[in-house]
Order: sequence, then structure tokens, then C-alpha cells
Amino acid sequence: MIIDIHVHPFLHESKILEEMKRASVDCAVLLAVDVDPLDVEKPEIKSKLQKRHMESSFGFNALRSAPIEDEIKRFYQGLISYYPELKSSNQEIASLVTRNPNSFIGFGSVNPNKNEDYVEAKLEEISTLGLKGVKMLPTLQLFSPIENENFEKICEYCEKNKKVLLYHTGCDPGPWENPELSEDANPKHLKPILESYNPTIVLAHTGSYSAHKPGIWFDEAYKLGKKFDNVFFDSSAVSSFIYSEKILKRLGDIGLDRLLYGSDFPVVLGSDMKYEVNVIKKCTYLTEDEKENILGLNAARILNLPTDSHT
Ligand SMILES: [Zn+2]
Repeated sequence: MIIDIHVHPFLHESKILEEMKRASVDCAVLLAVDVDPLDVEKPEIKSKLQKRHMESSFGFNALRSAPIEDEIKRFYQGLISYYPELKSSNQEIASLVTRNPNSFIGFGSVNPNKNEDYVEAKLEEISTLGLKGVKMLPTLQLFSPIENENFEKICEYCEKNKKVLLYHTGCDPGPWENPELSEDANPKHLKPILESYNPTIVLAHTGSYSAHKPGIWFDEAYKLGKKFDNVFFDSSAVSSFIYSEKILKRLGDIGLDRLLYGSDFPVVLGSDMKYEVNVIKKCTYLTEDEKENILGLNAARILNLPTDSHT
């Protein structure tokens, strides 16, 4: 059984199903993303981003001549024009699942910058639509897991309702390749909230995604996993870093039953579901049992799917 824990429905569903077939993926977790590009204009968000941008030692000074809020808005516009079939609302994810109940599992999303009523309504919607998890990105959603009070509500909701929290860690493309701008996605900032709430949380990219510095916050992700049993990892967009002897040995001392296959399909250039499956299948540092766990059984366990049907 192969489960891809990290898929973006930015292409027509027929293309996603085709790629799943090619890669022998049985089930794909489709992720909603609830973002509002205009949130960059909120005074507290704008001043935080501007400060980090100006003080950053990353890149060239010339880059700093453009206001960061414009750069961020351009990034969102680019994403929408590059993927005209992009589907990202909770409703859209739920209807993809309704049409393909055996192939897709849906995770919703909540923009935590909106008011309490909005957040409560979205969480209610996630329950009503039968979505099995919540995707959060402190980068694109521009929030701090320490300062944002709605994020606390979301963690509490996931714990109470047994929803999996798939949480972006590491840098992100575009303006977020700057680690200082992505600082809120450093896994170390999750420690205080995980001391109060106990959701099943998957650190997407294991704190390691960065085009310039792969493995950027792996140590911080590792420490969080070592401290909290409810912390899991996905290897999406960072498989060449994760499936090395050194890193697998370190993750092995937390337990490889906490590592999950994910492709981030279709957003990683030069990669797709099949490529990522093959990285794991061909990895010489894993036993056959470990490969089966990483490719699907670990995800089946946290998603409460039957694990006995595989052959
Ligand atoms: Zn992703």
C-alpha cells in the first residue's frame, strides 16, 4: 500500500490520478490552502516582514529595493497564473474526494489571520465536509505559531477531533527562500504549543526544505520529534537529503515509523510521485519493512486506515 501524504490539487484530477497510477500510489492526501494575499497589508504582518527583509543578510541588496509585500503579492499571482486549475478551498478538496473516494483523502485549511468567528466557521466546515486533517503553512499564511492565538485553537481542534495537522516547516519557494523571512516555519517555534496540545502533527519537509541550504532546520525538527511522540515527518521536496545514511540513522533513533512518503506533487521541479517512490524503493539504507512503513503503513496508522489489506 502506498499513500502520498502531500499532494496539491493544482492540476486537473485526471492528471493526478494518472500520475498515481504510474507511481502505484493507492491513495493521495489532497491539501487545501486557505490564504489571502491581501493579509500582507495588515500593519502587524507588514511591519514584521519589512523588518526581517531589511535586516536580512540573504541575497543581494538590490533585491531589497522592491517592497517585500509587493514581492509576496507577485508570488501569489504567479502561482495562480502558472496553475490555472489550482483547487485549494475546503469545498473543492471535499468534492474531489467525493468523486474519487477510494483514491483521495482530503485535508482542509484555515487562514489564521482572520477573526475568531471565521476560524471557528472554517473548523466547523472541515468537520462537516469529513476532511481528515488540516494543512497549515506559517510561510504563505504569514503567521507565527507563537503569537497567533487562532493557531492555538486549530491545534486544540485537531487534538480533540483527531485530525492530522500537516504543518509546513523549512523555507518555501519565491521570497521565502530567504530563511529570515521563513523564520516562523522553523520547527523550534512549535515547542511551546506542543507542551499544551497533543495533536498528531506531521512536519512537512522535516524542517529541511531550502534551495540554498538543504537540511536547514533538520536539527530543530529532530529535537521536536525526540521530545514529543506525536511528531511525524514527511520527506516531500527533501528526499535527496533525508534518504542518506547519516540522516536515516538519526531519524532511526527516534523511529522510522514516524517518517512518511510525500511527493509535494506537482510543485517540485524535476520530481513527481513516481520519482519520490523510487527514491525510497531504491534506498540501500532501509530494510524492506521500513520501506513499506514509510511508503504507506505509517500514514495509514495516523489516518486510521486499515493496514491489513495490502499484499
Ligand atoms: Zn507542499
